[in-house]
Amino acid sequence: MQSVKDLDVQGKKIFLRVDFNVPLDKDQKIRDDTRIKAALQTLNFLLEHGARVVVASHLGRPKGEFNPEFSTKPVAGRLAELIPQEVLHAPDVVGDEVERMKAQLKEGQVLLLENLRFYPGEKGNDPEFAQQLAHGIDYYVNDAFGACHRAHASIVGIPPFVQSSAAGFLVCKEVEYLQKAIHSPQKPYVVILGGAKVSDKIPVIESLMVKANDILIGGAMAYTFFYAQGFDVGRSLIEKDKTDMALNLLDRAKTMGVNFCLPLDHIAARDMDSDAEAITIREFPIPSDLMALDIGPQTVEKYRNVISTAKTIFWNGPMGVFEIEQFGKGTEEVAKAVADSDAVSIIGGGDSVAAVLKVGVSEKISHISTGGGASLEYIAKETLPGLEALTEK
Ligand code: ADP
Ligand code: MG
Repeated sequence: MQSVKDLDVQGKKIFLRVDFNVPLDKDQKIRDDTRIKAALQTLNFLLEHGARVVVASHLGRPKGEFNPEFSTKPVAGRLAELIPQEVLHAPDVVGDEVERMKAQLKEGQVLLLENLRFYPGEKGNDPEFAQQLAHGIDYYVNDAFGACHRAHASIVGIPPFVQSSAAGFLVCKEVEYLQKAIHSPQKPYVVILGGAKVSDKIPVIESLMVKANDILIGGAMAYTFFYAQGFDVGRSLIEKDKTDMALNLLDRAKTMGVNFCLPLDHIAARDMDSDAEAITIREFPIPSDLMALDIGPQTVEKYRNVISTAKTIFWNGPMGVFEIEQFGKGTEEVAKAVADSDAVSIIGGGDSVAAVLKVGVSEKISHISTGGGASLEYIAKETLPGLEALTEK
């Protein structure tokens, strides 16, 4: 994989794909600019070497149409405060006005495009849209690690239309760490999975089984596995269309000798809100008016023991609804156990990282990944569509 350092960028026009998908509040103020800062090393490198840089990102889920709520304009404002160079904001992603702005871009100048997801061609990886993005561009640089698992136009569609493509510093650093951890992981290798986005995560568990010794499941995902086995999970969040897949995975875990752990007990409540009373459930059924929102104390104990034996740990997805105090204990205890272990530890995912920061143990984690889905897919498959796209030529 070529790095941005391998490109001679002097005077060249670069398309820099970044992950500026920052959280905004109601007045479109940026709540956290970590993701903007994470791309500065690459952006500054390009600018210092005399490149003309067109920067683009997705932001939120605008569903393929213009929506001022998801404009990248506030990001341009914040970026201008962080770098000494001039930052221009394009009112569109493609089209005449953008072409004119691209053409007039001077060395050392930055042009931030509007939200890539204002066009359905982004998610649909429409080659015509990709070609428009690539118009007038010499080199493509991808520094959006968190989006590299998505086969979108700005991730995999542009490289065929430019002279050369490379990874930015953030992508290089992520790949280096993850590669080191997964290529010959020291055993026992413990994988901890939780969170809410089950359908994203279940498909990669199969590839993980080949490598991991123990897989600890928490979060909402656990209840799809329980439901699939016929347990009564009350109102817990489940995905009914994933039951076959869940049963299949349980079977495979058995044949492959993987220690696949589901929660032994649960913290449940009537509602997912801060006034809800937390009720400990020691065995099934979970009453029909309750939903499981965290792992229980016995589970914490068991998971802590498994984690203490680990030499390599990968964690994606909180164990419960950690945003609400009475459902945050499981995640907090698991975070402490991971921090206390001597293992090489990797944590990925927006919410997982937020949880670890909240507990205050981030300094004891070997690598905090900027990508959740991307890091999970990478450690499972050792490659990502966005990285493949950079090595094709
Ligand atoms: P990440 O961002 O780390 O990849 P996800 O986005 O997949 O993680 O999941 C995080 C979300 O999952 C959190 O908002 C959390 O409240 C929610 N969650 C965790 N456990 C449960 C549960 N049992 N029921 C419902 N939501 C849950
Ligand atoms: Mg998340």
